[in-house]
Amino acid sequence: MKVLVVGGGIGGLGAAIALADRGVEVDVVEKKASFSVYGVGINVPANGLRALRSLGLLDEVLSAGFQFGHADFYDGDGEFIVHVPSAPDPDVPANNALSRVDLHRALIGATERRRVKIHYGTTVQSFNDRGDLVDVRLSDGRSERYDLVAAFDGIHSPTRRRLFGPKYDATYTGFGVFRITLPRPADIIGIRVYQAPGAKAGFCPLSAETMYMFLVTGDPAGTVHNPARFQEILRERMTRFADDSLPGQVRDGLGAGSAAIVWSPISDITLPLPWFRGRVGVLGDAAHACAPHTSQGAAMALEDAVVLAEELTGQESVEERLERFQQRRYPRVKLVQDLSYAILAAEMSIDETNRRDAYAGMRKHLPAQSQQTDRMLNAPA
Ligand SMILES: Cc1cc2nc3c(=O)[nH]c(=O)nc-3n(C[C@H](O)[C@H](O)[C@H](O)COP(=O)(O)OP(=O)(O)OC[C@H]3O[C@@H](n4cnc5c(N)ncnc54)[C@H](O)[C@@H]3O)c2cc1C
Repeated sequence: MKVLVVGGGIGGLGAAIALADRGVEVDVVEKKASFSVYGVGINVPANGLRALRSLGLLDEVLSAGFQFGHADFYDGDGEFIVHVPSAPDPDVPANNALSRVDLHRALIGATERRRVKIHYGTTVQSFNDRGDLVDVRLSDGRSERYDLVAAFDGIHSPTRRRLFGPKYDATYTGFGVFRITLPRPADIIGIRVYQAPGAKAGFCPLSAETMYMFLVTGDPAGTVHNPARFQEILRERMTRFADDSLPGQVRDGLGAGSAAIVWSPISDITLPLPWFRGRVGVLGDAAHACAPHTSQGAAMALEDAVVLAEELTGQESVEERLERFQQRRYPRVKLVQDLSYAILAAEMSIDETNRRDAYAGMRKHLPAQSQQTDRMLNAPA
């Protein structure tokens, strides 16, 4: 079997590794001219770590990252709300956060060790699905024939557009997130969240020296912030936090020497099944991007990769195997999407009038809800 993976991101590289390990011939095309990802952090929870373990990368990502097993919540004044332990997983740490660059390096290294070629600066120009084969014209002038095209081409997937039209383009949630890498105070040994009306600041340890901060706030549709003003906007939005709270201290310390700030709108994709039309389909963010509130986007893309490889190397027809893949994946990613959006909507509905009730609700319900989610996701993908 010969598979074209479109997109050399987290899911695409994961799929290339998993398929190559099962004897599938794989090509990867990546539109960027070379490997580049934002230098911010990413948290990979236990289920994502299990997927990385099956790609042979667990030790490498653990040694590059920071493991932790809880989240602590505070209000915007710095008053403690609740401690939320992660459900332990018997095999892997509950969470491992690391630099995106390190995660990507590990995936690229493993891909190249399998002698899978990543064709940078290359996209799909057109494809012709002939039923049992797909003829693909690539932007580098080559024409190739594949048994399957698996597109992990991200939230703005051109493949999804080609297959299903603009109806399933990304939907903006009304909120965006600023991220920045910072020195880690010694007491940031798990996620720490400060929930103020209209703004959430979170801190996640990345290494002995570093952590990253994320700030979620609202922005009208169509907002595109000028990167030259990121620091000014971030500082202004963080006035909602008390001066002596960690976000207040970070705000007041932002200056010329600060690391680069990244801003991303939060959008999601609600693509019902099927994700495949014939022998061409979308996976990862291209099929089910969601709000980052459960730290599950990369984990879901990696699970897609591993499960696709498991199912594709079965005995039935390719069509039956693809159907099984989709049936196996859909309920799990839908659960993550619904939950992620529900958390975003709930936290951003907190205002001055309801905040006391909201914090009381978090205190009462968050630990049990979080454990229940962890247990569901710790079940096999
Ligand atoms: C603010 C924010 C914070 C997040 N934090 C977390 C977190 O802590 N934990 C977590 O698990 N997830 C997190 N995520 C989500 C996570 O980054 C994504 O879910 C994950 O990267 C999806 O992987 P993917 O391979 O599907 O897509 P991507 O990683 O986006 O990769 C897509 C690739 O396809 C390439 N491409 C696009 N079009 C083409 C084309 N036409 N031809 C060839 N190549 C193409 C792109 O250049 C890119 O390399 C976060 C997301 C955001 C926005």
